[in-house]
Amino acid sequence: MHEIPPGEILKTLRELNAERVLIQTPEGLKREAQSLADFLEENGIEAIVNGDINYGACDPADREAKLLGCDALIHLGHSYMQLHLEVPTVFVPAFAEANVVEALRINLEEIRKLGRRIALVTTVQHIHQLERAKSFLQEKGFTVLIGEGDGRISFGGQVLGCNFTAAKVDAEGILFIGAGYFHPIGVALATKKPTLAVNPYSGDALWMDEEAERLIRKRWAQIAKAMDAQKFGVVISTKKGQLRLNEARRIMKLLRDHGREATLIAMNYINYPALEGFDFDAYVVVACPRVPIDDAENWRKPVLTPPEVELLLGLREDYRLDEIFGMEKTGNEPLGVALHGIRIHL
Ligand code: SF4
Repeated sequence: MHEIPPGEILKTLRELNAERVLIQTPEGLKREAQSLADFLEENGIEAIVNGDINYGACDPADREAKLLGCDALIHLGHSYMQLHLEVPTVFVPAFAEANVVEALRINLEEIRKLGRRIALVTTVQHIHQLERAKSFLQEKGFTVLIGEGDGRISFGGQVLGCNFTAAKVDAEGILFIGAGYFHPIGVALATKKPTLAVNPYSGDALWMDEEAERLIRKRWAQIAKAMDAQKFGVVISTKKGQLRLNEARRIMKLLRDHGREATLIAMNYINYPALEGFDFDAYVVVACPRVPIDDAENWRKPVLTPPEVELLLGLREDYRLDEIFGMEKTGNEPLGVALHGIRIHL
């Protein structure tokens, strides 16, 4: 169950004088988006639901909202990310109801193995419980650090699949709260510190070292398959928060300097079937770092991240996950903060 506060969204839209809005949603909140649209319509606001797949705040549908003549975009499920947006955008992170403190209580002995000085990180679904988790752990004798992270993220202690800056603090070990492996593996690889993931839904705890090694082995298999590739397609994304043209140019230059051919390709939704007609031996995805990793099995050609190209060319030795960094936080970010963690980008 996720909490979406329709009354607060309505109040925020009234403050913005919005008469027509576009609602953008990730897969898991489609029904909530539908109910929200009905609720807004009943309250005199024309609501259009965006049916496209959305994976993150990196892909706001502000251009579509503008095209549809909407006064505002409601972006469900993710938190604000510093981007230049074309319409006022209300970010509504969906908070999960799972009991984080109870999951920590069950796993206290395991958590003690991290040391006394620990960093606490989570995804946006559990961010509203982070302070409670911190107090609980402090009562149990831990020194708890919550890193601020860079401008790509909204809340202290929050990690994204492409950004682990909030985990990079002076701690002995990292405690990740949340479900799924990608984020805690990323935290373990980005910090090179012992990382324990506590799942607040199942109550399970899992150390990330073996998972990280397994991922690295798989990725080395991709790199090995690309070793003899001559022609590389370097794929960038036109999604606002994934567009990394300079990084792509850097990779193109590296490849060419090492005698390989490279062609730049721009796509919105990056997927292998759309690329199949091209004559490339391998691809580099310079966009969402999760695409080449989560989806590699569906690609008939090797697909790498930028740091993996550096490994392929012998320019680095240690494996690292690809990250997208934001600007440094200034405290003057162009946003208003409303109730309940809703953030408005004006
Ligand atoms: S770039 Fe990928 S990991 Fe980062 S916010 Fe977007 S979808 Fe998530």
